Amino acid sequence: MISELRRSVAVPFLLAAVMAATLPAVACRASHPAPPDATATAATQKPDPRPEDFDPTPSTPPAMKLSGEKAFATLKEFVALGPRYLGSPGHAKAEQYILAHLEGALVEQDQFNVKTAAGPFTMNNIIAKFPGKKDGIIVLAGHYDTNLPLKDTTFIGANDGGSDVGLLLEIASQLHQQMKPPAVCAGICPPQLEGYSIWLVFTDGEEATITWTDADSVYGAKHLAQRWKHDGTAQRVKAFLLLDMIGDKDLHFEHEANSTPWLYEVAARAGQRLHLESHFSDRYGAISDDHLPFRDVGIPVLDLIDLDYGFDNLYHHTTQDTPDKCSAQSLQVTADVVAETLRALNTR
Ligand code: ZN
Repeated sequence: MISELRRSVAVPFLLAAVMAATLPAVACRASHPAPPDATATAATQKPDPRPEDFDPTPSTPPAMKLSGEKAFATLKEFVALGPRYLGSPGHAKAEQYILAHLEGALVEQDQFNVKTAAGPFTMNNIIAKFPGKKDGIIVLAGHYDTNLPLKDTTFIGANDGGSDVGLLLEIASQLHQQMKPPAVCAGICPPQLEGYSIWLVFTDGEEATITWTDADSVYGAKHLAQRWKHDGTAQRVKAFLLLDMIGDKDLHFEHEANSTPWLYEVAARAGQRLHLESHFSDRYGAISDDHLPFRDVGIPVLDLIDLDYGFDNLYHHTTQDTPDKCSAQSLQVTADVVAETLRALNTR
């Protein structure tokens, strides 16, 4: 799969946008193309911001300090719950684990019934909301389920589902500490973050129930994106950052072609400021993932993903996706890039 990705060393920002629209899209999780959605762009009617508008100045508040070690410890504890495929005991335990670690945060459970390719299931997206002083929301998301077709194996998805949960829960813990009561307050004053609100979304049903197609995948993301479209939330989301397979010991983020080009550039510039550019790969190709339903309702999206997991992506969706293939260092790299990207996004 990975060999199909186009190599494009230092693709300039505008060229990347053109390539996303013109190159045959390569879907690493599906054999079908996933072209950019023209209606979403038309619906927003707003010119894209320029990546350079998000470059922090020396007076910009420092980035949140996150621990790759703690994220890795959580990853290991989380995947030790066992396989988390739909309807399994491990799936129920995973929900409880996430909820227990979000205690004290404002949590919403987006439970719904859906008819999948493999039959009806109840699914549950978990959303932790950290309100901010600025008007707007930045979403950080990742999925927690494992693959139903692998139910008869020991597949635990350490990198695929475990790594993002580990990091999102570390971010939750740090955000919790950053929440402060407003300086001026009369009456009941709930604590807030300094910048935009941050919502952490743990999606369910990301994996295919039989074989990856548009219809049989990203069930939770599709449900939530439609809800946000209809209740007006979509218009308030400034950026949707998806974390997927970010624990690989040998970490190199894709230049993911379905991501919003300016948002990818903001993250790549964050990586450069941190001298982590060597973790940004020149592999250029389109990936089908949880970010697409949100892009399709007009939200700027970024899929921060490494889809070259083991030689020739050998560990992906196999029982070899275990914690020893991941590392605290890689989670630290992702954590630092995410924190610096949030810092940058908050400059506007
Ligand atoms: Zn997967």
